[in-house]
Amino acid sequence: GATIGILGGGQLGRMLCVAASRLGLKTHIFEPGAQPPAGDVAHSVTTASYDDAGALKAFANSVDVITYEFENIPTSALDVLETLKPIRPGREALRISQDRLTEKSFLESLGLKVAPYADIPDMAALDAAMATIGAASILKTRRFGYDGKGQARIMDVSEAADAFASMAGAPAVLEGFVDFSFEISVIAARSAGGDVTCFDPGQNVHRDGILHTTTVPAKLSASLRTDAVLIAANILNALDYIGVLGVELFVTPTGLIVNEIAPRVHNSGHWTQNGCVVDQFEQHIRAVAGWALGDGKRHSDVEMENLIGDDMNRVPELATTPNVALHLYGKAEVKPGRKMGHINRIIHP
Ligand code: ATP
Ligand code: MG
Ligand code: MG
Repeated sequence: GATIGILGGGQLGRMLCVAASRLGLKTHIFEPGAQPPAGDVAHSVTTASYDDAGALKAFANSVDVITYEFENIPTSALDVLETLKPIRPGREALRISQDRLTEKSFLESLGLKVAPYADIPDMAALDAAMATIGAASILKTRRFGYDGKGQARIMDVSEAADAFASMAGAPAVLEGFVDFSFEISVIAARSAGGDVTCFDPGQNVHRDGILHTTTVPAKLSASLRTDAVLIAANILNALDYIGVLGVELFVTPTGLIVNEIAPRVHNSGHWTQNGCVVDQFEQHIRAVAGWALGDGKRHSDVEMENLIGDDMNRVPELATTPNVALHLYGKAEVKPGRKMGHINRIIHP
């Protein structure tokens, strides 16, 4: 069987390895950090820096195709890898999703609605942007933000200077605050042959900037459900995408607004492990390995809940709760705000 190279050894990489293994495929993880969660289940692991061209070349030569579990892979590393093996999803998806500003203008170019936004290189730009966008806003670093990190909520012009200072000189974008009814996401997949399939949209609740629960089905009208799926397909086709993509959306009284995209399997797609015959991890592996996509139809209603930090104390109880599927990432150390695992609670079998 083929070997899938995976950049990044966190829990997403780990669950990709499990899915690949079940299809008789091998996996090779590339990860700079020690003791990556994926290391326990991958067939091989390279521990090296993204600056180490020799290690990158050896990694690429040992695999058939390269994919990734996070979008912030240094461009220089991608330049080395792409001369040796296909990178799926492709470079364009990475380039766009590594920078919130590029991402927003790309989404707009597809005719999709995003929150009003402005590039914020300096404090003068922030003052000017707040005059047009309005004071109620969020300042976000253009790059490297996740789990709500690198963001400052602004309610009033008097808070602008502190918000700008909190960016610590990093390039930023200002977004108008969207008064959404609720949040959803669509996990979609596109095969090498161009077939597209979408998992049922999930409804997401965040706590302290971190995803707390995803519930399927989302409480969406049929027409918004269709809109959500068409938006995801539009993005996949525009990027000539191969693999799984996560699209986060705000639901508002006037329709859907795209928050952000992630060119990879997504935390809000973990429910598919117990709600579908073929889950997001298998769908991604199928796509990057050049297989046909599988049956991602939802067969149950599910609530996914992340187990974060001390939630690990609930594991003994959850392990014996009916209709609860427990997924743990094997992380040695519990830290506040750290994603340790998740549960999928089947609501209507
Ligand atoms: P992730 O971990 O999903 O990558 P992130 O750090 O990239 O998160 P965002 O998705 O941009 O952050 O924002 C996190 C959450 O903050 C959103 O899911 C939403 O609840 C809220 N939020 C972000 N932008 C806006 C906005 N413009 N208006 C209202 N709420 C927002
Ligand atoms: Mg994000
Ligand atoms: Mg997000």
